[in-house]
Amino acid sequence: MALWELAAPRRRRDIPRVIRWTNNIALVVLDTLILRLSFPILTVGLAVMAEERGWGLFNNVDLPTWVVVIASMLVLDLAIYLQHVMFHAVPALWRLHRMHHADLDFDATTGLRFHPVEILISMGIKLAVVAALGPPAVAVLLFEVLLNATALFNHANIDLPRPIDRVLRLIVVTPDMHRVHHSVDPSETNSNFGFNLPWWDRLLSTYVALPAKGHDGMTIGIEQFRTRRDLWIDRMLVQPLRGPACGGALEAGKDAE
Ligand SMILES: [Zn+2]
Ligand SMILES: [Zn+2]
Repeated sequence: MALWELAAPRRRRDIPRVIRWTNNIALVVLDTLILRLSFPILTVGLAVMAEERGWGLFNNVDLPTWVVVIASMLVLDLAIYLQHVMFHAVPALWRLHRMHHADLDFDATTGLRFHPVEILISMGIKLAVVAALGPPAVAVLLFEVLLNATALFNHANIDLPRPIDRVLRLIVVTPDMHRVHHSVDPSETNSNFGFNLPWWDRLLSTYVALPAKGHDGMTIGIEQFRTRRDLWIDRMLVQPLRGPACGGALEAGKDAE
């Protein structure tokens, strides 16, 4: 993705790569360490365990494997979509999630930039879904690989030809679709919550096709944290504790009233 960004960038960068990349990548290393140390088992391991012990819905019904694999991936993707809406709607959770939105440029490393506490809560939710659903381990593995790949893809600063974007966004969230979600305008921040499949946004009326100011004119980030110092990892980690929890979906709803 980084090579693709070099070859065909979509937007001009405002911040030197060295500041964002060093800090965003350092955060990924820290996130991974904290995650591995906090959970004795992750989603694929739990799916294997559930299969062995007969836990969850799909381990107790008799359906063709391909149906169960597809249904499991759909349910997991819907769960991630709903979790994302919840992280915008609940002020305490928005404090954690807004760190993802406070990146001042939008590229593949933005897709990795999440607060460690959000990563832990998100893993807890995914484990609960896996335990209740009993999906085949292969479906969970496929889903995790896809989710990581699409997160890098749909945050990438790449210039996809418009006709290709139009077709592609019928089946997967494209960079032009997810970039709207990183707009500083709260009504656009609270749209396009999908990470993999674009259908949930269309079904649940959270889809916005284009930023009002266009992809070149739009401002990336949130109003609250806009200095270069805010892009450093130490500031990212304490960001949930700083300032009021404004800008979440409930807040935007209040404005609309
Ligand atoms: Zn978000
Ligand atoms: Zn994002």
